[in-house]
Amino acid sequence: WAKAAGKGRFAVFDAQRDARQTARYRLGAQLPRALERGEFFVLYQPIVRLPDGFPVAAEALVRWRHPEHGVLAPGQFIHLAEDNGMIAELGRFVLEKACRQAEAWRRRDPARAPSVSVNLSPRQCADEGLAGEVDRVLRETGLPPERLQLELTESAVIEGHRSPESLRELSALGIRLALDDFGTGYSSLAYLRTLPVDALKLDRSFAEGLRGGEGLDGVDARIVAALTQLARALTLTVTVEGVETAAQAYRLARLGCELGQGLLFGGPGPAGAAGPLDAAAEPDALHVGEQAVGGH
Ligand code: C2E
Ligand code: MG
Ligand code: MG
Ligand code: MG
Repeated sequence: WAKAAGKGRFAVFDAQRDARQTARYRLGAQLPRALERGEFFVLYQPIVRLPDGFPVAAEALVRWRHPEHGVLAPGQFIHLAEDNGMIAELGRFVLEKACRQAEAWRRRDPARAPSVSVNLSPRQCADEGLAGEVDRVLRETGLPPERLQLELTESAVIEGHRSPESLRELSALGIRLALDDFGTGYSSLAYLRTLPVDALKLDRSFAEGLRGGEGLDGVDARIVAALTQLARALTLTVTVEGVETAAQAYRLARLGCELGQGLLFGGPGPAGAAGPLDAAAEPDALHVGEQAVGGH
């Protein structure tokens, strides 16, 4: 009896797994058409100065407004785009969109406008033509290179087989390079010695460790303090991801972190949504479709 029930459960489990795989396959196959139909859009999350919360930059985060499944987060489709080769086109879309938006912000208020930060996946990182592509987008949009930051994970650098030299080609354009999710990947310190990076984004697990009651004595606090000192010695900017409470922000500022990003300061939102980026908002804010989506 129990055995039969168990068997039935496994059958259900297998069927669910098959259905999930089929759904994933379908989603991947829909990517090209979705791009053509304009189903992708970009949200912006503020990156703020920790003492005063002023938004110095915004991270571009892609979304897919799927006709049946609603708005999908990148975790649900970026890997599919990586697998079927669509990532180059999707990445180009995000880069162009983000640079155009940042240039619109800059035109509106050059002194206060945020710069923009764009994520690169491993395959994009591996693309020989990447520097040429970035150069073209900067020229076409008119965005000054120092207003663009590209975020790479250590694993993207490794899986993309990027040599420090080829990354230097990117930084030679005058843009900034940031190591994303820092502290979760491989041999962080070895990479810092050779990669031409300008900034570290500490993974949000560090901010999580600063939620609790340990104050500034916990192990995460001490690691953050040490990483901040290391970054300062190497003249790198430090951003901490996943700042959700005022207590975390306060502790991080005390530990010497310059920049923070997280729900406390605002989640990913349309360029013109109410929030710290509002004053700098521009054309995308007028796209009714994008305005309707908000949140994260
Ligand atoms: P990421 O670059 O580490 O981006 C930060 C992620 O943390 C975002 O998730 C953001 O919504 C989320 N987040 C922000 N603040 C908080 C917070 O306070 N608490 C928590 N728990 N989470 C927070 P999202 O938008 O789902 O993006 C996930 C990942 O997908 C990104 O991680 C990035 O690696 C990738 N991604 C996003 N957009 C693109 C893109 O255009 N191209 C590529 N290649 N990857 C992208
Ligand atoms: Mg990122
Ligand atoms: Mg990150
Ligand atoms: Mg992260």
